[in-house]
Amino acid sequence: MNDHASSTERLQDVQARIAEAARAANRATGDITLIAVSKTFPARAIAPVLAAGQRHFGENRVQEAREKWPALKEEYPDAIVHLIGPLQTNKVKHAVQLFDVIHTVDRDKLAGELAKEMNRQGRHLPVFVQVNTGEEPQKAGVAPGEADAFIERCRNEHGLNVVGLMCIPPVNEEPSLHFALLRKIATRHDLKQLSMGMSHDFETAIEFGATHVRVGSAIFGPRTPPPSRT
Ligand SMILES: *Cc1c(COP(=O)(O)O)cnc(C)c1O
Repeated sequence: MNDHASSTERLQDVQARIAEAARAANRATGDITLIAVSKTFPARAIAPVLAAGQRHFGENRVQEAREKWPALKEEYPDAIVHLIGPLQTNKVKHAVQLFDVIHTVDRDKLAGELAKEMNRQGRHLPVFVQVNTGEEPQKAGVAPGEADAFIERCRNEHGLNVVGLMCIPPVNEEPSLHFALLRKIATRHDLKQLSMGMSHDFETAIEFGATHVRVGSAIFGPRTPPPSRT
């Protein structure tokens, strides 16, 4: 797809590539959810993609999502917004109000606060546990060696509805090793959902069992760098 294609043309292209990757892996296309990652893009860029029928979207910052999504959801009440970025405990209340799925549970303090807030709001969202499969110090996620115990605590102590695991492989490594590791940990816990694969590697992720691929730039085009975090 060239840079002049529209977001809806690129969406169709990504959908076709997902279907092809599913076929190649002997999987049903319907078992794979495309999350269109709309971070940094304004509501006017998201609207045509919603109008084209896309319903799952990903955002990585609570504040940015709060500025865009309440109005979009009014127009499209069946839109499902996934939080795919790190969550600070002081933003848990707004996150539970706004998001429908949380992909980034990675520590007990956060798990506890999420559980408490979900009870308070009566909104029991499905969550993914993020695993730092590359053990990168700067990256969020529970270390692979701690994942088993953490998943159990999320379920049994915090009472969260853990539906699957999520990872972001290191940029310069073969992603399939990370996808395979994530799948192996998920299987041990009978977790059916795997959030893995981005614009450059979603086909490989599908080969390795991804149920949720998070695709941003291949749909919305290149992102300008976000303003620095405070
Ligand atoms: C930005 C982002 C994506 C999408 O990245 P692209 O390379 O634009 O597809 C996927 N997952 C996470 C966690 C992200 O932050």
